Amino acid sequence: MFKITKKQKLGPEMVLMEINAPQVTKHVQPGQFIILRVNEKGERIPLTVADFDSEKRRVTIVFQKVGKTTYLLGSIPEGGSILDVTGPLGTPSEISKFGTVVCVGGGVGVAPIYPIVKKLKSEGNEVISIIGYRSKNYVFWEEKIKNVSDKLLIATNDGTYGEKGFVTDILIKLLESNIKIDRVITIGPAIMMKAVSDITKLKKIKTIASLNALMVCGMGMCGTCRLTIGGETKLSCSDGPEFDAHLVDFNELMERLNVYKEEEKYAFEKWKTEAKI
Ligand code: NAD
Repeated sequence: MFKITKKQKLGPEMVLMEINAPQVTKHVQPGQFIILRVNEKGERIPLTVADFDSEKRRVTIVFQKVGKTTYLLGSIPEGGSILDVTGPLGTPSEISKFGTVVCVGGGVGVAPIYPIVKKLKSEGNEVISIIGYRSKNYVFWEEKIKNVSDKLLIATNDGTYGEKGFVTDILIKLLESNIKIDRVITIGPAIMMKAVSDITKLKKIKTIASLNALMVCGMGMCGTCRLTIGGETKLSCSDGPEFDAHLVDFNELMERLNVYKEEEKYAFEKWKTEAKI
C-alpha cells in the first residue's frame, strides 16, 4: 500500500496528492509518469509526475476529478492509502542547454511541466513559461512555476486573471516580438498542444509535446497507447510520452481519446448510483 502523505484542493475538482513511493523517487526524472490503481478492482490510470522529493521519498500528482476512478481517488483522505503505484515509466524529458526555451502548460498540464521547467533552468537555459487556465479560480502553482522561470506569462480564457485568451495568444505575441526561441515544450489538452504545434511549425521551432494517450499496461506490451508519429506507429508509454509535436497526428490522438467516452460515462453514472453520490 502507498500512503497519501498530503492532499490539497488546488481548484474546482483539482486535487494534489503527495504519495510515499520510494521505488519511484529513487529513479524518477522530469517527464516520466506513474500508473496507479486505487483498489483490487480499480483500473490503471497513468499520471505524469508533477514533482518529487527524493529525500522524503514522495511523489506528487495533480489530477482533475472527471470520471469514476479520479473521483474514487479524490475521495481517499490524507493519511489513507492507494493499492499500488508503478513507476517511474516512460522516457524522461530530453533536457540540456538549448538556449531559450518556452514551456507552455494548460490547465492540469501546468503541474507536470513544473519539473521540466525546473531542470531546464538548472541546466542554464533561459526559460519563459506560459500557463493558461479556464478562469481565475482554476489558477494553481503560479509562484512555483515563477520561481524556476526567467519569465512567467499567464492567460485565462475569460480574462479574470492575467491576459484574456488562450496560451496560444500569448505565444503568438511572443513570437511576433522576434526573440530567438530555441525550443518549445508543451503539456495540456491535446487541442492546445496541436494549436501550439501549428504555430511553431510555421516558425520552424523544435517543439516537444507530452501526449496523454489512452493507456493500460504502460510498459509497451498492450499497444493501447499507440500513436502515429511521422507516419510510424509509436507507443506513448515506452517510446514517449514526449514526441516531436510537428510529427504527431493530433487528429488521430483526439479521436482515440474519445473512443470510450460512452463507456466512461456509463461507468461513472453507475458508480455514482451505487455510491449514492
Ligand atoms: P482546459 O480545457 O482548462 O485548458 C487549459 C488551457 O489550455 C486553456 O486555458 C487554454 O489556455 C489552453 N487551450 C485550451 N483549448 C485550446 C485551444 N483550442 N487552442 C489553444 N489553447 C487552448 O484544460 P484542462 O481541462 O485543465 O486539461 C485537461 C486536459 O489536459 C486533459 O485532456 C488531460 O488529459 C490533459 N493533460 C495532459 C497531460 C500530459 O501529460 N500530456 C497532463 C495533464 C493533463
